[in-house]
Amino acid sequence: MPHANDLSDVIENDRAHIWHHLSQHKKYETVDPTIIVEGKGMRVWDATGKEHLDAVSGGVWTVNVGYGRESIANAVRDQLIKLNYFAGSAGSIPGSTFAKALIDKMPGMTRVYYANSGSEANEKVYKMVRQISHNKYGGKKHKILFRDRDYHGTTITALSSCGQPERAAQYGPFTPGFVEVPHCLEYRSQWGEVSDYGIRAANAIEEVILREGPDTVGAIVLEPVTAGGGVITPPEGYWERVQEICEQYNILLHIDEVVCGVGRTGKWFGYQHYGIKPDFVTMAKGVASGYAAIACTVTTEKVFEMFKDTPDDHMSYFRDISTFGGCTAGPAAAIENMRIIEDENLLDNVNNMGEYLMGRLGELEGKHTAIGQVRGKGLFCGAELVADRDTREPVHESMAAAVVANCMQQGVIIGMTNRSLNGLNNTLCLSPALIATKDDIDEITQAIDNALTTVFAKA
Ligand code: PMP
Repeated sequence: MPHANDLSDVIENDRAHIWHHLSQHKKYETVDPTIIVEGKGMRVWDATGKEHLDAVSGGVWTVNVGYGRESIANAVRDQLIKLNYFAGSAGSIPGSTFAKALIDKMPGMTRVYYANSGSEANEKVYKMVRQISHNKYGGKKHKILFRDRDYHGTTITALSSCGQPERAAQYGPFTPGFVEVPHCLEYRSQWGEVSDYGIRAANAIEEVILREGPDTVGAIVLEPVTAGGGVITPPEGYWERVQEICEQYNILLHIDEVVCGVGRTGKWFGYQHYGIKPDFVTMAKGVASGYAAIACTVTTEKVFEMFKDTPDDHMSYFRDISTFGGCTAGPAAAIENMRIIEDENLLDNVNNMGEYLMGRLGELEGKHTAIGQVRGKGLFCGAELVADRDTREPVHESMAAAVVANCMQQGVIIGMTNRSLNGLNNTLCLSPALIATKDDIDEITQAIDNALTTVFAKA
């Protein structure tokens, strides 16, 4: 693996010219930026030659099948030599092949629209919902509900549907017509301890619909398991009631699978755990595990048909293009990514290793009072840190950041939630690649154990 001397130019050029994502750059005045140089399986190496065990699949739940997959690289290479691109209004062999493979995993869905990022895939839905509203409801049924703590992307309109206020705070004014509904994190129940939390949390959505007027609400966008907002698994009864409410008020249900999709939770899609019948499903990160950029907006024939069934032909079709939705590298990589998940039985591995990881985190919860609650589905887990277990007072986010930094020193990369207003940036996030073994998980949880001991002993 490379050494610092080989890459000093890279570090200096990075310091001088790169504007890093999601970073306060002041720190790079005293600390070198981390440059990741190489990856294989679950591990990456940085510019100093240090090895890291990656417990967050590339930082943000993306590299689902792990690093260094030559078969994906070869599939992309072969496709690029044959045909790299043609505008998405024309079809392509990998585009059509992957669409069929994907639809086979999603009973009830029939159509795939290609784009490049999760934000964009979500915005496609928002545009479709608005167009349906114009064509069928005179523009009235145009509002889109989103949930407190959920995140759907970085563009101004995606941020208009952002339930993490600090990520949106400085970027308004926003696109009108987006309305927030309450979260469903039972650990921080709005009603204290109640036996029917899931039903109440869903009914809180209905209250917003009734307040806004059901004939003005076109859709609701929800993460099946909330990711950056705190790894929130849904409470019992929640999804059944949400589905009922959507049907009752004729509201389209948009499931954002950008994080949960493609195996992360132990099924192909997170919504498939909960018997949900979505009208739209969006996905990006794990679709090609970061080997190429690809995002998909998937919908039903019923929705698709609405775009034919209008009096004016010019207005009937979806007047949208994503230039790089015509890149063939994305679907070529996605086909091979899916083959790997199937041939290596990775969904089984996620279920087995997810259970093992939850067990190990449960042991840590028994040992460290700083852990308030452990939550998770498959290989997608979180541990919420608290200053006081009885009152559930959140820790200051600097404590969670110190745990993450301590793990990094030990050579294990973990994550934490993004929500920082009201002191809620306090959940450690784990989302190792779907290939994780017991040894990997032992190493990850041992690092967290050490970090909690060190950080909270100092507190
Ligand atoms: N939806 C969810 C649930 C996400 O977590 C993210 C990104 N973290 C997005 C959408 C946006 O995806 P992208 O960054 O690819 O635009």
